[in-house]
Amino acid sequence: MKFYSTNNKDHKVSLREAVMQGLAPDNGLYMPESIPVLPTTFFESIRQKTFPEIAFEVAHHLLGEDIPELELKRIVSHTIKFEAPLVEIENDLYALELFHGPTMAFKDFGARFMSQLLGYFAKQQDRDIVILVATSGDTGSAVANGFLGVAGTQVVVLYPSGKVSEVQEKQFTTLNQNITALEIDGTFDDCQRLVKQAFLDDELRNSLFLTSANSINIARLIPQSFYYFWAYAQLKNRRPLVFSIPSGNFGNLTGGLFAKRMGLPVEKFIAATNLNDIVPAYLRSRIFAPRPSITTISNAMDVGNPSNFSRMLDLFANDIEALQNELVGYSFSDDETREAMKEVSLSTGYVMDPHGAVGYLGLKQYLQKQRRDVVGVFLETAHPGKFINVVEETLEKKILLPAPLQKFMAGKKLSIPMSADFSNFKSYLLQSLKGN
Ligand SMILES: *Cc1c(COP(=O)(O)O)cnc(C)c1O
Repeated sequence: MKFYSTNNKDHKVSLREAVMQGLAPDNGLYMPESIPVLPTTFFESIRQKTFPEIAFEVAHHLLGEDIPELELKRIVSHTIKFEAPLVEIENDLYALELFHGPTMAFKDFGARFMSQLLGYFAKQQDRDIVILVATSGDTGSAVANGFLGVAGTQVVVLYPSGKVSEVQEKQFTTLNQNITALEIDGTFDDCQRLVKQAFLDDELRNSLFLTSANSINIARLIPQSFYYFWAYAQLKNRRPLVFSIPSGNFGNLTGGLFAKRMGLPVEKFIAATNLNDIVPAYLRSRIFAPRPSITTISNAMDVGNPSNFSRMLDLFANDIEALQNELVGYSFSDDETREAMKEVSLSTGYVMDPHGAVGYLGLKQYLQKQRRDVVGVFLETAHPGKFINVVEETLEKKILLPAPLQKFMAGKKLSIPMSADFSNFKSYLLQSLKGN
């Protein structure tokens, strides 16, 4: 499979290059040259298959030419080492729980798949791959835990000192092994600037094998299609199916669009956002108007310029009507989100995190406005314990911090304090990683 840039279909690269580069040199995003449709026999027998078996078949159809079968099996089974159960909350309305991985959010799927792919490519060369990641919290934890112990890789996480929550910080500062945390005296933007500057620095690029692990990497997108098939496999009846996806950068939703292209029967996708409603507004007005993000209680979706939007347009060859046929968008305020969390908790006992609650609201809105005779699934993208403050304040009751997060909290923080000055960062990289 070759991958082209959304900015230039003639610029085609191998899987290895697409994964190593992340972003294409022309700033486009990589897309698979074709999206294969899975055979009907796959769907006929899907209920008899396990999640890893389903994920392997999907991955094999996309990447079978690029990675040997046994290796791909190993990569997939390592990625999917935890459950993604479908939980019925109300009649024919389900939560697809994507938070049973090590950092308790759906980003674990993408990070683990990408780490295994890079680990595979690392074996084909004699130098370690150095992964630089700037984080405001959640990406750093998913990436660090995904790469933990992967031979041939070194991860350097840059985070703004004092600007991430303690439980987030503990998830990437307590790991050690091949993970280093640089605690930058500055903002998230400073961290991102340092990473960007490193990629432009000739001396660094010559002495280290640098790559990034940001969310636009195609290796993080592909595994996000797996669990749509798995949700379908777990459903009891075969009524028309709609998915509601709480979205920020729209990688998760794009994964769903991929699944549909591969033959998964989905009636409609719902783009559910907080007040950062760039895509819902686009679907109404056909005007794409990015703007600075607003802070909300579902902060992992506080995105003012959704990076995967160009992939969505590309999938529909810029045909807005075709996109509008498959996708509706709704946005919700923090008050509405809190109200939904309270109501669902009181009426069903199910505790939603603020992101999942936005997905739930999107689904409810669709059912009310459009049609009722469907099966609805919303993606529950994080464990409520990840946002314990918001959840406890909203529900006015204590919830338990889940065991994996308690374990991180008990770990010993190890970080390297550093100024936001590029020359310090550069000499650190050269001194500590050059021998690898
Ligand atoms: C990243 C994230 C999202 C948004 O996912 P996108 O793929 O960026 O749309 C939603 N919920 C949680 C908990 C997240 O961490």
